[in-house]
Amino acid sequence: MKEAIVEQAVKTYFTDQFPQFSTSQQCEVQFGTRHGIADVVLHQPIQDEKGYFVAIAECKRLPLPILRAQARSQLKSYMSATNTRYGVLAVGTDPRHWEFCENRYNNWFAEINREDFERGIENWEPVSAEPPAIGGQAKHSTSHWWKRIALFLGVLFIVSISSLLLLWPDPPEPIVYITRTGRKYHTYNCEFLREYNVENKFAIYLDEAEKNHDPCGICYSYRTTKSR
Ligand SMILES: [Zn+2]
Repeated sequence: MKEAIVEQAVKTYFTDQFPQFSTSQQCEVQFGTRHGIADVVLHQPIQDEKGYFVAIAECKRLPLPILRAQARSQLKSYMSATNTRYGVLAVGTDPRHWEFCENRYNNWFAEINREDFERGIENWEPVSAEPPAIGGQAKHSTSHWWKRIALFLGVLFIVSISSLLLLWPDPPEPIVYITRTGRKYHTYNCEFLREYNVENKFAIYLDEAEKNHDPCGICYSYRTTKSR
């Protein structure tokens, strides 16, 4: 199958579907200093110099993914350069397998289905280079929508963190051990306590112990050097 057959299929589709417009093949597209050739173009019957294309079709005969991706970006660059609203990526001759896209506003492209493509062209209006009122509003409301979601997530995050902090149990008060006669307080694993096999050790809160006892030189220094 040659590419010309695909172009012919697009031309037939355009002519049958949109008789109010004209169809041309191999149209030169100027962008900046470069130019390219658009395979098939749907346009107003009488085109003045500022006339818009209604749709541009890029035709490929082979459904290779890399060709498809290349053709897709080429089509969009042609649509951008000519400010064309509708685009077709025709791979093969069956319109059911073609891709359709719309330049909604300001080169903001959307993939659309064939029904939307045909309905859109029935009510065709050119793309506005400036964001039009409807597009502007849509863009605006979209950003508001995102802002609301972001705000909601932010509040949710703060609420969950603060409730976590509120519900989080207080850290247990440190407990140390004193002996009946000693003037020092010790940690549970104090080597001094173990070595001298002190049996009568009493658990006591650290702040209580600090009132009448000094820290043990062995376990306390070990503990503080380790924790600091
Ligand atoms: Zn100790």
